[in-house]
Amino acid sequence: MRSVMMGLVLRQTKVKEADCILTILTPEKGLISAVARGCLRLKSRLFSGCGLFCYSEFSLFEGRSLYTVDEAQVQNNFFGLRQSVEGMALAMYLAEMTLALSPVGEEAAAQLRLMLNSFYLLSQNKKSPAQIKAVYELRTACGMGYMPDLLCCKKCGRYDGTPFRFDMETGSLLCAECAGQEGESPNLDGAALTALRHIALSEDKKIFSFTLKEESLQRLGAVTEGYILRRLDRPLKSLNFWKNLTLPGQ
Ligand SMILES: [Zn+2]
Repeated sequence: MRSVMMGLVLRQTKVKEADCILTILTPEKGLISAVARGCLRLKSRLFSGCGLFCYSEFSLFEGRSLYTVDEAQVQNNFFGLRQSVEGMALAMYLAEMTLALSPVGEEAAAQLRLMLNSFYLLSQNKKSPAQIKAVYELRTACGMGYMPDLLCCKKCGRYDGTPFRFDMETGSLLCAECAGQEGESPNLDGAALTALRHIALSEDKKIFSFTLKEESLQRLGAVTEGYILRRLDRPLKSLNFWKNLTLPGQ
């Protein structure tokens, strides 16, 4: 049976001289695996549409365990991603996270939208990689059903005006004073908390629309990363590569 669907190539595994098995995120079927014969040959008609991180319209034959790619029309290859090592490292990390989640149904469609928006901003240099990373991590956790409780301090109800501690295990907040009573220290300043709330609660098209100073962005990124990693059942190798690039000296 032949079918046509849009999809983003998240993994390209070489199997023979010029053949690949692609892992593609699609809105309808989640992750699918498809053989692309000869796609590594420059002259192959599959070459441009089957590359890593290409968003393409795939024409596929459905086999027993694998699809076979018949045609691939590229719609966006996010060329700008490849212009920086940092951009590629982040794309690898976002892809590995998504592969680990293996979303299906509506979750897959939402995850694909988030991924395409992130890749677009990254390839166009419109937002810093660190900001894109934080938004992706938190929205992904929310999409998995782990919406954090960001309204106020869970002990005293305080809403703002003090640093807060975000508990990455439970996804809840404590104000500086209540955190202190539990022997913990704050990990979010006011700006980072506002951004955290913005990412979790805004509609899709607004989630990236904020700016933060470097220090607040680092605080935000530390908690979004900790929060999503605690919800995955395995570590992500590509995160180490990203960290080696962006935190020299660590
Ligand atoms: Zn409190």
